Amino acid sequence: MSLETILVPCYTDNYAVLLHDDKTNKTICIDAPEARPILSALSERNWSLDTLLITHHHQDHIAGIDQIKEITGAKTYGPEAEKLQIPNLDELVKEGTPLTWSDRKIDVLETPGHTLGHVCYHFKEDNIIFTGDTLFALGCGRLFEGTPAQMWHSLSKLIALPKTTKVYCGHEYTLSNAEFACKYEPNNIDLKTRILEIRAARSKNQPTIPTTIEKELLTNPFLRASSPELREKLNLKNATDEEVFTEIRNRKNND
Ligand code: ZN
Ligand code: FE
Repeated sequence: MSLETILVPCYTDNYAVLLHDDKTNKTICIDAPEARPILSALSERNWSLDTLLITHHHQDHIAGIDQIKEITGAKTYGPEAEKLQIPNLDELVKEGTPLTWSDRKIDVLETPGHTLGHVCYHFKEDNIIFTGDTLFALGCGRLFEGTPAQMWHSLSKLIALPKTTKVYCGHEYTLSNAEFACKYEPNNIDLKTRILEIRAARSKNQPTIPTTIEKELLTNPFLRASSPELREKLNLKNATDEEVFTEIRNRKNND
């Protein structure tokens, strides 16, 4: 199972991702922030898009759907729970929907919090998850619609995936997330190393995506409820993991 993966930068900090299977000549796109850069990335490579997967209803993930469909005819899948907010879906998905593309199964994970219907797409055989605006490199999505408890439950599903799973998220927010993280775990060696790598990549305008579940467990403050240093900083030594998550999410909102 070998896929070619192309990150397509859109607007100032969004990413769409193209996956291409050489063996079957199929191409799938995750999210549709804007049509033009996605269509150019396809035509540069002579790929024709057959499938488009949508994570959630925000404009910066769906604005390109109509034009991409019109030009490529790609079959478009998105969360059933957001069908009223996402125009032009061909198929609705929820957790457990049997979804296949290019001879592999894709697991749909419901991850409410950022929006209530947000879904992530797990390509198990390829060891890749697309997390949209649920889990970011060193961050997590703002809670526009869901509760902290819902988001914590959603993130818990993601961190239960194999540690080597590659994580593609919807935005390049990593550097500012890293600066925030350093305030709360200044002595985390993995984080110190990672921020150097991130600064180096960003100074050359390179993406910091993909990350892995393992890296996030070691450095992402929203997944670090087990860290004594973080708990100390938040004054939550004896709180539950969910309470620690809730507090760090609040701090980030007011950062
Ligand atoms: Zn969003
Ligand atoms: Fe977004």
